[in-house]
Amino acid sequence: MKILITGGAGFIGSHLAEALLEKSHKVNIIDNLSTGSMDNIEHLKNNKRFSYYIDTIMDVKLMKKLIKDCDAVFHLAAAVGVKYIIDNPLESIKTNIGGTEIVLENASRLGKKKVILASTSEVYGKNMDGLKSFKETDDRVLGTTTIPRWSYSCTKALDEFLALAYYREKKLPIVVVRLFNTCGPRQTGRYGMVLPRFVKQALSNRPITVYGDGSQTRCFTYISDVVGALDSLMDCEKTVGEIFNLGNPQPISMNELAKKVKRLTGSISKIIHIPYEEAYEKGFEDMKHRQPDISKIKRFIKFNPSVSIDEIIKRTAEYFER
Ligand code: UDP
Repeated sequence: MKILITGGAGFIGSHLAEALLEKSHKVNIIDNLSTGSMDNIEHLKNNKRFSYYIDTIMDVKLMKKLIKDCDAVFHLAAAVGVKYIIDNPLESIKTNIGGTEIVLENASRLGKKKVILASTSEVYGKNMDGLKSFKETDDRVLGTTTIPRWSYSCTKALDEFLALAYYREKKLPIVVVRLFNTCGPRQTGRYGMVLPRFVKQALSNRPITVYGDGSQTRCFTYISDVVGALDSLMDCEKTVGEIFNLGNPQPISMNELAKKVKRLTGSISKIIHIPYEEAYEKGFEDMKHRQPDISKIKRFIKFNPSVSIDEIIKRTAEYFER
């Protein structure tokens, strides 16, 4: 197959490109390098089945050409990272909504190409039910519009609505995937992501910065588990028109994560706590807990996230050390 990956020079996109090339597919990627990087795809450039376009998905003419030329699309291009969204609210909203519309409209017009849309667990918003895990059909609970963080949740939810509308009205084969804190080599901590930030801080013996009181939890999922599942969701015909949580359901608090990172890297870093308003901005709201219920995805494809948090930390540290 010939596959287009938008955001293909990003952390997830570049790993996905690599996996698809290994399966003998042809892969085209487009990326504007807003959070992606050429380093991520350097090792793929000599592969004859790989082409890359450093451009924006807002370029309709180019997108038409790329979509016409492919059999299926992984739409990963988006403004991501809590810090990035807060620092670039306008661009984030425009890319996340306008870009997705361009992808879906052209995938629909140019031959009903299957589109896997990368969404996010952020769409669930605040978890009001303690440690309860999220099911795809759960309600969304969001804060007020003056808090920029929630715009990310809204833009990705609107992407989901758009994808489902194209499916219902135009019979476009789409699949929506809600990702839960994907981690691993090539992820940068520059845009807020906590795990690479802690690992980098620990390796350089700088303070490990836990925001808030550190009791908030997340579920970290290793990149190869995510890439394998994305590939299977594309291959499985029954996934069309469905929404799936994709994550490792094992939670860990940021306090525990900081301690683990410090121990596994043999660091002498201090662990410090920074108030949210200092780390982000006044009025910032965090999600207290975020855990996926993965019973649905397991009914459709073989999915057993196998890489533990210790292993994720070790492999991320090895990557930074290299
Ligand atoms: N966080 C932290 N220290 C950092 C960066 C993030 O304690 O240096 C916290 C953040 O406040 C959140 C969690 O780590 O509670 C996960 O943050 P991230 O931005 O990685 O992803 P999120 O799940 O919030 O989208």
